[in-house]
Formats: sequence, structure tokens, C-alpha cells
Amino acid sequence: MRNGLKPELIERVLGGKPKYTLHELEEKFPPRDLPEGAFVTRFAPSPTGFMHIGGLYQVLINSKLAQQSGGVFMLRIEDTDTKREVADAVKIIIDSLSKFGLAYNNDEKYGPYFQSQRRDIYHSVVADLLARGLAYPCFLTADEMEDIRNRQTAAGFPTGIYGEFARDRDLTDEDIIAHLDKGEVPSIRLYSTGNPAQRIFCKDAVRGSISFPENNEDLVLIKSNDGLPTYHFAHLCDDHFMHTTHVVRGAEWLSSLPLHYQLFRMMGWAPPLYIHTSTLDTIDAESGKQRKLSKRHDPESNVANLLADGWPTNAVLEYLFNIIASGYEEAKLKGAVKSIWDYEFKPKKIPMSGALFDMKKLEWWAKENIAQMPVDTLVKNVIDWAQNYADSVRKDQVADVQYLRNVLSIERDNPKRIRKDFITWRQTLEEVAYFWDNLFQPNREFEFNADVLNAFLSTFDINDDKDSWWNKIVAIAVNAGVKNGDVAMNLRVALTGRTNTPDLYSIMQVMGKDRVIERVKGALK
Ligand code: GLU
Repeated sequence: MRNGLKPELIERVLGGKPKYTLHELEEKFPPRDLPEGAFVTRFAPSPTGFMHIGGLYQVLINSKLAQQSGGVFMLRIEDTDTKREVADAVKIIIDSLSKFGLAYNNDEKYGPYFQSQRRDIYHSVVADLLARGLAYPCFLTADEMEDIRNRQTAAGFPTGIYGEFARDRDLTDEDIIAHLDKGEVPSIRLYSTGNPAQRIFCKDAVRGSISFPENNEDLVLIKSNDGLPTYHFAHLCDDHFMHTTHVVRGAEWLSSLPLHYQLFRMMGWAPPLYIHTSTLDTIDAESGKQRKLSKRHDPESNVANLLADGWPTNAVLEYLFNIIASGYEEAKLKGAVKSIWDYEFKPKKIPMSGALFDMKKLEWWAKENIAQMPVDTLVKNVIDWAQNYADSVRKDQVADVQYLRNVLSIERDNPKRIRKDFITWRQTLEEVAYFWDNLFQPNREFEFNADVLNAFLSTFDINDDKDSWWNKIVAIAVNAGVKNGDVAMNLRVALTGRTNTPDLYSIMQVMGKDRVIERVKGALK
């Protein structure tokens, strides 16, 4: 510990009087009124203009932990890196959460939820550390720090501002005033008393207790260029005053855990329970090796692409959920649970090392999802997708809602035998494109049997029920000396251009008399 700074000097160092005392902050943000055992969680993205699937995975864990414990899930925007700010970035995050139906509850009382608007809070807390000699103003310039780094590298020392390299660690008040008088603006650094030869025990909900060497780096708490906090310090203040009980964050933060424990200890605050999630991985097409899903190489890593391709959001969530709660799939198949929201999972089960995000597996969840969906929901989803993401061709397909509904209703009436060939909204419209005359592609390879098609035209009545219709097909087959299936295949290809389709009778009913006749005549040409 060093000598604490007097209030006047703290005010000069911070460029203003701290707005609150710690006591006032505690009163401003009282404990939450929640049932015993309720989790308070948050998703705390930095607005980079991109929502990674790994981010959605974390949102899901957070929101599920809060939901199943009767707690609160918040969204906090970590916008303290003003250099990296991107337009619309926050909108992208909020829109993604809303599209996936993942609601957050930002109770005004604990806000604001943009870190850039919480400066008063950070300055008030850092003032307390300055007063207690646990933090100090540091006037090192970028060049000076570069110089220190070079010296450390040359001598084979760990880099960073610590111990003897922390030039301003023990500046006297007079030294500090002299710097300030020259107009220099300091950063505020932690006055670390950690000793790397000793170990600190930290807890991770999945990994259990882990020991690390103590931190001896005088890390920056408040930056000099904009007076905003670093992640480490902001998360300390925010997760304390927002009463976060569980911090779910990427495993890249695991190595900062000793520092974070140190900070909480210095403040006399209980740290939250940390859950460090692993990366979502893929199998690299070239090397065949498992690696992290990358923004650059894997389009599926971008949530925006999944939405644009029309993946059912619920399927994405169920698949992600099954990664953290591996018993979910079985419970769902057995009918023991209806959705992820009624399956309770244990944080301990979250995978510790890279979990595979496999598009084939996602396809399975998507097919199952669409198969279980009431047709009206299916129609609505397809229309919503087309209106937001599709080109004019696909938009035309959803213009006549009744026709679309009829098309999508085929083979959905028997709950035990619902078709499973729809995967995404885009692919669904492609799959049924032959129902639209401008998209229908006549089959030029198939050798039609003209006698069969003519016989069909002469007896066809759209009002026939399924049995009469089939009896006519059988009669045509007998007359022509071919199999029933051959007659059906001639009709199938004539009507759809394809050799494999759902139920032919239903297709004709949906297409209607004129379209059926026209297509069969077309095949005869
Ligand atoms: N803004 C940090 C990140 O995006 C958040 C980490 C956390 O959740 O605490 O990695």
C-alpha cells in the first residue's frame, strides 16, 4: 500500500469531484428483491457490429440460468473502447436477441446499461481506491511504455507495468502535482501488492477451484485518453452494483481471474461465480482438425447470416441448448419437455473445451422444429423471412397467402407422418417452387407416355375424392398395360418436373384444375 491521496488531489487527478461515496452507491443500488437462489446474469457484449454465434450461445446460457431460477437477465453494453465503436452495432445486438425471442430485463434502478454512461460510478469507486492508496495516477506516455516493454523483452522479463518498472507507483503528492501542473492527464493504475510467487485460489462454476500466481501488474483501471474504465475495472463496479450473481463469459477471460479476484477483495466485495464458456468449434475443411468457428472463414459463425438464410430461430436455440444440456434432446424426443424453457440444466454440465457446432446437426433440429410447427406458424415464418430477406422472386411466392398456405399444408395432417423436407425458410420456398408457374421447370429428360397423359386428361375431374382419383389411375394403367406407379410417375413429372414429391393427389388439389391440365398438356408437347 502507498499513501492515500487527499480529496483535493483526487479531484484534480480525476478532473472533477467524485459524484458519490461508496455508501451512497450502495444505497443507490440496493440488493435486489429476489427469491433465494435466483441468478442474476448478464450478457455484456462490446459493440463490434457483429453478433457471433458464440455470443448467442452465451446469451442463451445467461437467459436460461435466470429463467430457471426465477432471476434476472440483463443486457449491458460494454462501450468503453471508443476507438472501436461501430455504427449500428448496438442495434445489431438488440435485434438479434429480439429475433431469437431472448428477452432481457434492464430494470432502470440498476442502470444505465451502457458503460459509457456510468463514468460517475467508476470515478467514485476509483476515488475510494486512490484515497486508500490502492490505486495511483500514472503519467507514463505511450513512448515511455514502449521503451519499458523493449527493455523488459531484451532482459527476458515479463512485460507490463509492475514493481520496479512501475515508475509512478510511489510518486509523492508533490510529484503528482508537478505532472498535473504541466497539463498531463494520468491514467489510474491499480497499486498491486500481489506476489506471483504465491498463489490465489479462484472459482469457476464448471472447472471448480483453480489456483493462479497472484497478479503483480499495476493494470490500468481508468484510461487517460477518455477517462473511461478498462474492462477489468468496469466489470468489477458493474457486476457489484448490478448484483450479478453469475458471470458467464468467454474462456479468454480465465487468465484475468486472479486480477478480478484481487479487485473484488480490495473492495471487500464478494465476487460473482464465474462460468467461462468454451469456444464453439468446427472441423476445418482443409486440415480436418477441430478449430474455433471464425468470423472470416465460417459464414455460420455470424448470427446475421443464419437469420438471412432463414434458419428457424428456435432450432438454433434448441441445438445450442443441447450443447450445454446434453440430456435435452432425449427429454424432448420422449415428450418429457416441450421446449428448452422447461428443461432445467446444471451449469456444471456446460462443456469446458471446444464444443462442435455442426451444421448437419442443426439441420436435424431444423427439420424437427418445422415438422412440429402448426402450419399457420410455418406460413407466418416463411412470409416474415421473405419480407425481410428475400429477392423479388421469393417475395412473389408469398404474395398469395392462401395459395402458400395450401402448398405448405401438404402432408401435415397426420401428426405421425409429417414431412421432414423443410429445413430453412429459404429452402422451404425453393423446395415448393414448382407450384408457381414462373418458377416451374418442366422436365425435358423424362420420356412421357402420351397415351397415359391423354387418358388422364379425358377422365380428370378435380372434384374426385382420393379413392375415385386413384381408381381412374388404376384403370389408365390397365388400359395402357403399364404399372399404376408408371401412371403416377408420368403425372408427377408432368406436374412438378420432379420424380420425387409429396402426395400427388394433394398436389393436384392445391394446384387446381386449370394448372393441372395446362401442365399435363405442356408435357405432351
Ligand atoms: N465485453 C466483454 C467481452 O465482450 C464481456 C466479458 C464479460 O461478459 O464479462 O468479452
